[in-house]
Amino acid sequence: MKKRIPFICGNWKMNTTVEEGVNLAKALKEQTVSEEVEAVIAPSFLHLYPVKEVVDGSSWKLSAQDMSSEEMGAHTGEVAGEMIQGLEIPYVILGHSEARGRGQSNELLKKKLERAFALGLKPIFCIGEDESVYEEGETISFVLNQLEESLGSIPTEKWKGMLFAYEPIWAIGTGKTASAEDAQKVAKEIRRWIHEKNGKLGEELRILYGGSVKSDNARSILEQEDVDGLLVGGASLKAEEFGKIVGAGVFHE
Ligand code: PEP
Repeated sequence: MKKRIPFICGNWKMNTTVEEGVNLAKALKEQTVSEEVEAVIAPSFLHLYPVKEVVDGSSWKLSAQDMSSEEMGAHTGEVAGEMIQGLEIPYVILGHSEARGRGQSNELLKKKLERAFALGLKPIFCIGEDESVYEEGETISFVLNQLEESLGSIPTEKWKGMLFAYEPIWAIGTGKTASAEDAQKVAKEIRRWIHEKNGKLGEELRILYGGSVKSDNARSILEQEDVDGLLVGGASLKAEEFGKIVGAGVFHE
């Protein structure tokens, strides 16, 4: 058994029309999810309401893919945390490298994290290095700096229930995957960092890996001691494949 309940989240990114998304959600709902794993999907904002109508009452949970750092108000084109909270969606991905690539800084992400905590939303907070940082062997210090700058000064009592997703940028959507050992090495350092801030949360909080996960590599990554789940992009768009990945999170005694 894993120490913490495995958390497997499918990030649909900017894919599927609403109709396709609803059909994908229906196909996922037909698959039984074991109580030993938490299965989550993160469709685009436009899909959240209709997909919620499909998955409500099933084991599938929902996450938003981002949210504004601002309170509800005059911010054309943005989506407020209050809107996500109002739909009773528990999770929100923050700091995804694709959003960071559009200009989201560690400082802005700190504001988003604070806003999410204030609203009772649980962030799935993404961190990860690009290829040049990886090749220089600076992954750990880079990732810990991202954590420190965005989260380090937020009181740890607020972190309860949040998740961390280690996603090396060079592995996202590229077909390259970090080795299970590399994923473990970074997850262990993230856990050490959390532990130094708050020992209890260091034991409790879940750390995910993301980057070209498929059904054939999911299990070996999930077997790592400090990896408690997966954030899955491309492979979450096929119901059968994603169902297999969720199944890889079931560990019997
Ligand atoms: C992601 O976007 O979080 C991701 C891990 O994508 P992919 O699985 O397609 O690499």
